Amino acid sequence: MKYLDLRKEIIIACREMVEKNLVIGTWGNISVRLPDEPTAFLITPSGLDYFATKTEDLVIVDLEGNILAGHRKCSSEVQLHRLIYKNRKDIKAILHNHSPYASTLCAAQKPIPPLAEDLVQIVGGGVDVTPYVAGRNHLQLGKAACRALGPEKFALLLANHGPVACGRSLQEAMVIALIVEKAAKMYLWAQLVGGAKEIPTKDIQKEREHFLYKYGQKE
Ligand code: 13P
Ligand code: ZN
Repeated sequence: MKYLDLRKEIIIACREMVEKNLVIGTWGNISVRLPDEPTAFLITPSGLDYFATKTEDLVIVDLEGNILAGHRKCSSEVQLHRLIYKNRKDIKAILHNHSPYASTLCAAQKPIPPLAEDLVQIVGGGVDVTPYVAGRNHLQLGKAACRALGPEKFALLLANHGPVACGRSLQEAMVIALIVEKAAKMYLWAQLVGGAKEIPTKDIQKEREHFLYKYGQKE
């Protein structure tokens, strides 16, 4: 089967979402852009238990929404994944989940301000929230998600729904999902001590550049 290792990685990441309390049940989905075919991506099937999902259950979809391979019905959020890949060539993986603290801010339709070093470094600033999109209007939801993500950020919140973490790899998308959840938690807990203070705008870009070009073993 093509992309066997990638399929296995996606299934492991789905299980990790459950183990790390990012999702309950199957309310989340993951996709990864194909390394040798960047106009298509692998995505999880809709509503299938992550601990029962097999490599052949993943679906390959192109950026126009055509199903290229797979026998399962793909994630109901396929439009959101597709439009993000179409709009942002730098994004290689997308992890949508319903984590409790980030979802609380989604319910309040409140963005996460740029309140922590790790958040601004890896996401590129605070996390914006979409307006509410009614019912099952997945195309409209996908377009709203792209607007909230903008040209450079790596995460967004879907109003009354849940967060979306993007990454240059699946590993990075997972870390971003966890950092967004931590930042949402920090924001809410900070209300008890007078509210979170934001990192000044002039420093956000510097933090991002430091992370991209200097952080860790880069120099
Ligand atoms: P799928 O199981 O169809 O991917 O949907 C999960 C979800 O997050 C719906 O909002
Ligand atoms: Zn969802």
